[in-house]
Amino acid sequence: MAEKIDTRLGQVNAGLSMYDPNSDLSRFNRTEPGQPFRLSHDFARVMDTARTVFTLTDGAWDGTLKPLVDLWGFGTRQPDGRMPEPAAIADALAKTGFQHLMFENNHLKKTKPGITLDLGSIAKGYGVDAIAGILSKSGIHDFLVEIGGELYGSGMNRHKKTWSVGITDPLNIGSDAGLYKIVHLENRAIATSGDYRNYFEIQGKIYSHIIDPKTGFPVDNQVISASVIADTCTFADALATALVVMDPDDSLSLVGSLKNVECLIIQKTSDGFTEFASRGFHTFVQR
Ligand code: ADP
Ligand code: MG
Repeated sequence: MAEKIDTRLGQVNAGLSMYDPNSDLSRFNRTEPGQPFRLSHDFARVMDTARTVFTLTDGAWDGTLKPLVDLWGFGTRQPDGRMPEPAAIADALAKTGFQHLMFENNHLKKTKPGITLDLGSIAKGYGVDAIAGILSKSGIHDFLVEIGGELYGSGMNRHKKTWSVGITDPLNIGSDAGLYKIVHLENRAIATSGDYRNYFEIQGKIYSHIIDPKTGFPVDNQVISASVIADTCTFADALATALVVMDPDDSLSLVGSLKNVECLIIQKTSDGFTEFASRGFHTFVQR
């Protein structure tokens, strides 16, 4: 089984890795506008969910922010410790926009020069689903898959109980990090995004690694953690990233309109924090 898992992870990476110049993703990024690029099975499936989440979140999730991610100095480029110039932010912003991608007959093309994909906020979730898929296909039904904090729980654990997983307390991080909540995952995925796990610093100020696609700046709305429970980890991963960008009230109405999707958002306030939980979230929480 271990070998099958490694092979499958290798396939997903060969498709979606930003760090491998020969991945399908990197090769797509080098195409010219109008040039149709044939999508692999994995690439097509991720793009399908990507388009759904882009549309649902009104562009708060946008997989084309690579120029901004590079400019701010995370992702594939090292930070140089300086704030980008406003003109450079405007330039980079002009090279983004998921709506400038056309996706038909298993082919993808850009309709504007400079458009590139960064699937860093959805590929881990897809990797989790891919591994869950081969485990199920091999007749294994009791498992927990985790890649970088994104999870899928299927069946039961060895104590014949549903899998329970912790959401880190974003206000109490470090080596003795506490758990904020424990949730049950029965044939469900959970993904969490937040600036407590991954951030960078310029001249002493902390910046989130999540960018607001409308402004080109790292988000600064005090949402420190967003967890999404959903049927697939691909969807949960992308939506969790979007909920860090969105206003929590908008997030709650969006999640409330989606079937089998729940969320928990934590926003910092001057004297503590506020919690925004979707209506059904509590049914997953262990007491
Ligand atoms: P983590 O890697 O901590 O799980 P996410 O899943 O939220 O975090 O992914 C964050 C990554 O997604 C960033 O490093 C960047 O590459 C990319 N990204 C940043 N902002 C956005 C956004 N608004 N929409 C889509 N992807 C984004
Ligand atoms: Mg994500």
